[in-house]
Amino acid sequence: MGAADHNMILPRIRQLDEGAVNRIAAGEVVERPASAVKELVENALDAGAARIRIEIADGGRTLIRVTDDGHGIDATDLPLALSRHATSKIDGSDLLNIHSFGFRGEALPSLGAVGRLTITSRAAGSDGAAMIHVSGGRIDPVKPAALRAGTVVELRDLFHATPARLKFLRSERSETMAVTDTIKRLAMAEPGVAFTLSDTSDGGDRVLFRADAAASLADRLASVLGRDFAANALPIDATRDGFRLTGHAGLPTYSRGNSVHQYLFVNGRPVLDKMLTGALRGAYMDVLSKDRHAVAALFVTCDPVLVDCNVHPAKTQVRFRDAGIVRGLIVSGLRHALAQAGHRASTTVSDATLGAMTPERPAAPIYQMDRPSFGARATAYTAQMPGFAEAPSARVEPPVETTTDAPEALPLGAARAQMHENWILSQTETGMIIVDAHAAHERLVYEKLKAQMRDHGIRAQALLIPEVIDVGAMADRLLELDLSKLGLSLDAFGPGTIAVRETPAILGNCSAKALVQDLIEELEEDESAAPLSLQSKLDAILSRMACHGSVRTGRRMSAPEMNALLREMEATPHSGQCNHGRPTYVELKMTDIERLFGRS
Ligand code: ADP
Ligand code: MG
Repeated sequence: MGAADHNMILPRIRQLDEGAVNRIAAGEVVERPASAVKELVENALDAGAARIRIEIADGGRTLIRVTDDGHGIDATDLPLALSRHATSKIDGSDLLNIHSFGFRGEALPSLGAVGRLTITSRAAGSDGAAMIHVSGGRIDPVKPAALRAGTVVELRDLFHATPARLKFLRSERSETMAVTDTIKRLAMAEPGVAFTLSDTSDGGDRVLFRADAAASLADRLASVLGRDFAANALPIDATRDGFRLTGHAGLPTYSRGNSVHQYLFVNGRPVLDKMLTGALRGAYMDVLSKDRHAVAALFVTCDPVLVDCNVHPAKTQVRFRDAGIVRGLIVSGLRHALAQAGHRASTTVSDATLGAMTPERPAAPIYQMDRPSFGARATAYTAQMPGFAEAPSARVEPPVETTTDAPEALPLGAARAQMHENWILSQTETGMIIVDAHAAHERLVYEKLKAQMRDHGIRAQALLIPEVIDVGAMADRLLELDLSKLGLSLDAFGPGTIAVRETPAILGNCSAKALVQDLIEELEEDESAAPLSLQSKLDAILSRMACHGSVRTGRRMSAPEMNALLREMEATPHSGQCNHGRPTYVELKMTDIERLFGRS
């Protein structure tokens, strides 16, 4: 304001009434029905509930009801539960040492300010229940009520008092999905508690999610994320400087197209934290392409004084005293587990393969040849079976003579044949394996390049005649990167041109030009993405380089060569997926194959 304003009426400071204060706080605590559900379920968990039932209608907008069998609230405490900053969980002396979900004493008064809230409760050991109702901030007197045990909190017509908020709600479907996601996260945080979420819209009772009390985290994860996840995840347990990381992380081949299946917890509290998701991405960077996302449920635990969860009223963000340690723990803990997993690829890959291969059983007897769809189906079927197809390209290489030094007992079995100059068929004790030799080789070369770089720099091989390449504006960037420790030596040659003198020995006689052009592409891509650390940049370059070393593509391999590749895969970390997160092999168990032929 300018000096000309000095004769305006001086605004006076006044205390907002409690209703307004609560509505302001509600704006921070309750953004949408899912946040109200979160607060109410957390209260039930804090009360020691063993079973929690959640009912919603119209995406939670008209009704949210949470019923628990926890310790309840004493009738005389009910009005207090609705007043701001009143809590039974902390005494205020130590805000850094918190062991409950709630501690701010804000949720119930906030909900009472933006909806019609009724709490009915019977305190443990008390001989009767009581209820209290609040609507638009107006609190009614406590009344006796009927309830055998625990607490029922009912919230109707959320945001009826703040119509502006209502406008921000998404469709009923997406609000319902957000509520379901909230419950799933809390269910993972508390495996021992039974949860039921149902949709009671239009007088119905449709179960949206249900998890019985589980004996272990693994059991709970299986019931929330599916048995598939359990079969395709690695158990994680790592510690560093007072922090512990546990949980399960999905194999790279089990990745998804978005990050909604990443569940992170800090001291048992579900969090949505950028630093933690960034660390998760970093851990998989080497084994997943940029558009794929790991599936994981990870739990960071530490002394509560090492982390502040009082950053925001919704308590989904945290601030670690030393974020670097936590980041390092996640990256190294996960990388270690992924390396240990070695060549293991996801079981869903073979399930998906089988799904694609299994011919649908004809719905009608086969003699009805005039069914229009039968012909199409039959063609699709034969096309999958090279032996029967007419196309001349579908030929099978002659079988490999069996060697005794490639025992089928090894995980990737004994090579039996190669098809289309790429695919290796190998026999194991329990089935067969199809290896994408090209992808596998690429991965092995990448892992070797990384190992060489770690140990003593990548061995280079001089070109007989240096290759001069026109690289335009990228010349300076390439030269300043100093790729000589990557086995690539480049010199300035003229404006916009460089001379390649050496290429990595491991790549053999690769095309220097194609290699450099590919690296330029990687650098350009990198520029548009988030800035990477030098190490990750070098890894990305190595990964690109590895693609140029796949000499085995399009070449017939001898039996010893194939078996050597299989043995190398078994011994190499991360070899179950290629550098882009695709599987390098698929396993079909005998039982799967029998199923394919309708024999079981
Ligand atoms: P906070 O959870 O931060 O303490 P709330 O406003 O969510 O604040 O709840 C206020 C108080 O009401 C809690 O501290 C607790 O004593 C009591 N309370 C709320 N919900 C329940 C419940 N389901 N069972 C028992 N006590 C409850
Ligand atoms: Mg609470």
